[in-house]
Amino acid sequence: MLKAIYPGSFDPMTLGHLDIIKRASSVFDFVIMAVVANPSKTSLLSVAQREELIKLVVSDIPNVQVDTFNGLTVDYAKSNSIKVLIRGLRAISDFEAELGMAQTNKELYGELETVFFMSQAQYSFISSTQVKEIARLGGNISKFVPKPVGNFLLNHFNKLN
Ligand code: ADP
Repeated sequence: MLKAIYPGSFDPMTLGHLDIIKRASSVFDFVIMAVVANPSKTSLLSVAQREELIKLVVSDIPNVQVDTFNGLTVDYAKSNSIKVLIRGLRAISDFEAELGMAQTNKELYGELETVFFMSQAQYSFISSTQVKEIARLGGNISKFVPKPVGNFLLNHFNKLN
């Protein structure tokens, strides 16, 4: 069985992330979508909120499991016998950082292969950062995020106003 991990901040999950996980789940037998609890990045949503929203969105994809972890992705992968790491590429601007990360992970865990899924054109401009900014300023984010995420952000920023 070919297991893969799709790690990320997912703060919050967007339609771009959803497209990647759907496509990855049709290529690999089993995919773990894992929220990385990274204290060096400031986030809007707690790790638990991000996990909960992802679970709602991917509940109809039977071979996708949602999890969270602290620490290195390679350590999580090793301890779960995972040898494939999935990442998304939106544009050349993503490439440099992703290449460095893939090479570093390969040094740390030689059996791990990073597999990149190219963003489809209609999702290539979507980023969690922009989604949060638009939602914070009262804009409509329904074209960018799955419904439960849109509802969550609407509620979140309404409460603040
Ligand atoms: P991280 O902080 O680990 O980069 P993100 O949640 O920003 O976490 O992204 C997780 C992965 O999903 C990354 O590989 C990123 O390039 C990819 N990704 C983000 N947005 C999109 C998108 N719109 N289309 C395709 N891939 C995306």
